[in-house]
Amino acid sequence: MSIKAYIFTMLLGVLAANGMAASPPNVILINCDDLGYGDLGCYGAKDLRTPHLDRMANEGTRFTDFSVTSALCTPSRAALMTGKYPGRVGLATGVLRPDATGGLASSEITLAEVVKQRGYTTGCIGKWHLGFVKGMRPMDQGFDSYYGVLHNLDKFETVVFEKEGGMPVLRGDKVEKRPAVPAEMTELYTAEALKFIEMNREKPFFLYLGHAMPHIPFDASPRFKDKSARGLYGDCIEELDDSTGQILDKLRKLGLAEKTLVIFTSDNGPERRTPGTAGVLRGTKHTVMEGGLRVPFIAWWPGQVPAGRVSDDFISSLDILPTVAKLSGADLPKDLKLDGMDIAPVLLGKTGNRSPRTTLYSLYGLNKNRSESFRDNQWKLHLSAPPQLYNLASDIGETNNVASQHTELVQRLTEAAVQVRKATNIPNP
Ligand code: MG
Repeated sequence: MSIKAYIFTMLLGVLAANGMAASPPNVILINCDDLGYGDLGCYGAKDLRTPHLDRMANEGTRFTDFSVTSALCTPSRAALMTGKYPGRVGLATGVLRPDATGGLASSEITLAEVVKQRGYTTGCIGKWHLGFVKGMRPMDQGFDSYYGVLHNLDKFETVVFEKEGGMPVLRGDKVEKRPAVPAEMTELYTAEALKFIEMNREKPFFLYLGHAMPHIPFDASPRFKDKSARGLYGDCIEELDDSTGQILDKLRKLGLAEKTLVIFTSDNGPERRTPGTAGVLRGTKHTVMEGGLRVPFIAWWPGQVPAGRVSDDFISSLDILPTVAKLSGADLPKDLKLDGMDIAPVLLGKTGNRSPRTTLYSLYGLNKNRSESFRDNQWKLHLSAPPQLYNLASDIGETNNVASQHTELVQRLTEAAVQVRKATNIPNP
């Protein structure tokens, strides 16, 4: 071996030991909307067929303790895009309706802006929900391209576009089609994702795919309609599974599998009064119960993310941004206050590396609908009156309130939650 080759090999070893791949990986982040913890075969659904996601989990790592910060679209996405508690960016509660003038400030550093500095091509497909006026749309926030519906397709949002002929599907800033048809969305987004991958096969890319499904009004294309054992909702999940299969197949076919980290997850748990299920977990979207916050999280990167592993490491959507920064080799500003932590060593299964995360604060609503929780490892405190404390290690369904047996712990976690409130601009109740 020549001295040059030797030094190069050593360098690769050092990079690998630091949890960083030799060349920055492509990143595809697939974020479903309101998909529950129990909605996939590999997470225990017995009635639905999700062979592609089950295979993805077999070829990668399935995480069983991944939580979002908030069981609601806008706050959850704000945390995912910035690595900050949504309160820090002024989006702690409520969803942004299409006529909102507020949103994620352009001064915030997004996932797309992080990888942009490393020369990535960045694409956003699908739902955004983080601001719709100039300065706040995906292409103002680090994305080179945008395709999709920025909003929800429910009647609270479609009503805003009634006079204009319905909800617009945008390409960049231009209306490509209207009205958006729920049954078509997964198919449209999948085709767009495959095109994006094909077009950017030669250079590093970041693709954020924010599916419209299975958010209400859920629907599926003719190929999937009336095919599942759980009605239209199930059809919709099976179509999302097929979509992910097509994306992974495209990567394999283009020889990009070993160069691409793919993450499949959801922005929050299942909607109330839908066939969506959080499985063994209690609660739904719009709560701070595990059923609202804990969602599927599958990481796939052949040769890098260990295959066939199930990890119970405690991780959060907050951790995606610092982790992608690390994997891509991007620097974050020294004064950037993040709530997320680099979990690259956990993703890559480096021996002995447990997740650095120990706590997670969650909030839903303000005033009379407010609910709030604070996790510390296996302990989960609901800051209700009276407080409820659950030991998730033995009681994942949050059914046995042990607050009265652990008054000091309740006190300590309450104080810790108050500190997070203070740091992230959440008023005390
Ligand atoms: Mg949602």
